[in-house]
Amino acid sequence: MEYPIETVLHQTPGQASPMFYAERMDEIWNGEFAKVFQPYLPHIWFLCSTEVCPSPRWRRFKDSAKVRFCCQTCGHGWTSMKGRVVFWYFLHIPYCEGFVQFKLYGQQCQRCNNGMFEPAMWYPEEVNKVLCNLYNRIGQTYYGFVKPPIRYDRRAGKPRTQHNATLCQACRDGECDSRPRTTTPTTGAAVTPTPPPGATKLQAVRV
Ligand SMILES: [Zn+2]
Ligand SMILES: [Zn+2]
Repeated sequence: MEYPIETVLHQTPGQASPMFYAERMDEIWNGEFAKVFQPYLPHIWFLCSTEVCPSPRWRRFKDSAKVRFCCQTCGHGWTSMKGRVVFWYFLHIPYCEGFVQFKLYGQQCQRCNNGMFEPAMWYPEEVNKVLCNLYNRIGQTYYGFVKPPIRYDRRAGKPRTQHNATLCQACRDGECDSRPRTTTPTTGAAVTPTPPPGATKLQAVRV
């Protein structure tokens, strides 16, 4: 497998529906994660969801995707191009173990406006996209990747309504803003990499 990942690793053409149930979501996220992060072996990376930043020492990466929402109260469904995910990650070098925690942001139903954030349903291809971006960002942080590609495209589609900040959990938490897009490292990126043998072979530049 080549590094870094530039294209979607696998895609099932007929798989057009976003996932509806939280348990299934976990399955998809973990399955995709295991595939995308396999090249970092023998470093093992783990994924779990969280509601809060695990530690200020962890690095952070946020991304967005086209997602679907379906109100569990009234059944109203809508699409958003601002499905937000925030990842926190940390490589524990002595144990060759990496940890990723992620948070998915919800949106309120505009009809019910009941203060409840409905969970976002993610399309498998968008899960794959943001995990590939995360893989590349982690490669940049720990494995000496130089300016890996980060994909900003989204599954095609035009939401019928404008993004409503008052209904958006990410807007409420200050995570929805579109900062200038860049693939350069964030500040403080000078982490001494200890790349696993497999991850350095195809990498032209070592830090
Ligand atoms: Zn509703
Ligand atoms: Zn928002």
